[in-house]
Amino acid sequence: MLNGFLLLAEAVLYFGVMVTLFRFRARIGLGVFVCALGVMHFLETYLASVFYVALPFGMVSPGSAVLFSGKLVMLLLLYIKEDAATVRQPIYGLLLGNALMIGLVLILRLHSISPLPDGKLPDIGFIDQMGWLMVWGTSLLFIDAILIILLYEKLGRYLRARPFARILVSVACVLTFDQAGFFTALHFVAGAPIEVFFGGWFAKMAAALAYSGMLVAYLRWVEDHDIALPRGLSDIFDTLTYRERYEALVKHVGRDGLTGLLHRGSFETDGQTAVARSRSTLKPLSLLIVDVDHFKSINDRFGHAEGDKVLKSIATVLTEVAGAEQKVFRIGGEEFAILTEQPQAVARLLGESIRHAVKASASTSRFELTVSVGVCTLGEASNSLADIFALADERLYKAKSAGRDRVIGELGDDEAENPGIWTRSA
Ligand code: GH3
Ligand code: MG
Ligand code: MG
Repeated sequence: MLNGFLLLAEAVLYFGVMVTLFRFRARIGLGVFVCALGVMHFLETYLASVFYVALPFGMVSPGSAVLFSGKLVMLLLLYIKEDAATVRQPIYGLLLGNALMIGLVLILRLHSISPLPDGKLPDIGFIDQMGWLMVWGTSLLFIDAILIILLYEKLGRYLRARPFARILVSVACVLTFDQAGFFTALHFVAGAPIEVFFGGWFAKMAAALAYSGMLVAYLRWVEDHDIALPRGLSDIFDTLTYRERYEALVKHVGRDGLTGLLHRGSFETDGQTAVARSRSTLKPLSLLIVDVDHFKSINDRFGHAEGDKVLKSIATVLTEVAGAEQKVFRIGGEEFAILTEQPQAVARLLGESIRHAVKASASTSRFELTVSVGVCTLGEASNSLADIFALADERLYKAKSAGRDRVIGELGDDEAENPGIWTRSA
């Protein structure tokens, strides 16, 4: 009876202080709440490994009944009032903090330790036991936290109007799952008897009831309770697992910062792949090198910033004209490359379209904007990326010396006299 009352008192104290810190998050920062949650984690594991009290239905530890259950409810609160991107911070913090702890303990145990005056030595065996429980506990918490949020969202469809039932079912289900997992570890590490499982489970169900009641009361009377619109489960999962950050990163790797086009390094690797594929599939492959004419004078007359704007707009034109399935690279300051699975004639037409589109894009600006293009197709004489690059570059310089604003491909010098011939004949 006394034990039960004390557990309830602990839960009320824990909940009261934590939601107070949470309530003032706008003023004192959410870090205070999150840090307090982290500190409780240590006490929680310590208690769960050694501190048990007898209740009519079995052995109960305040570590799991009060502190662990409470922490899960706090994470749910964080999700309800903030968002998945915020909840994942303490979850990952606990997980990584544990990894750091293990690393430190591995070094610490190498010390030659001096006993204290009264002969006391640190209990490394106990630290190990705690360490394993913490690692297991936080790994479970990681799964628990994702589960509880997904479950809470899923239940929103049926229990939107009944927040107490919605929270209670979410918490109770996840705590049941957790008790099974945590007891397994406790049994193997600390030799906990089966009564600990049932004792712990009953206690967690009581905790679920008490905490859900307190949480609903807090949300209703303290927080201005606005019910969020339902979100896609996969969205939430992605946020919890940092997927969107990862995807953004992947999207930026190999890209040029100014224009967002693929950069020179990507050109080398993608180019080699494209050449190899073209050789094995016998599909044609052409390379266009596009260089802005007299770009230096744009910089000189209008400034570098204006020059950058022009480069961005050219990048947009190139991507639009080339189409989504073609890869466009920025291979130098004002030089671009396009790899296309087309024969020479089609590649040259693409070059002409680009030449016209760039010119048209600057038709209303203060200056004329033109490009020269060299085109080369993979073939007998040029069968490596280096070969077609060298040849396309050579043709680009032919185009420059023939007066710029033109496309030169395989047929050589004749067309150089005749800019635009390929568009006309098309
Ligand atoms: P040409 O017709 O012979 O190609 O003349 P050009 O002036 O375009 O030739 P050049 O290659 O000599 O000049 C390229 C200029 O591009 C030189 C450099 O200052 C400028 N540039 C290179 N990278 C950037 C950039 O990122 N931003 C800006 N604004 N200018 C750049
Ligand atoms: Mg140039
Ligand atoms: Mg250049």
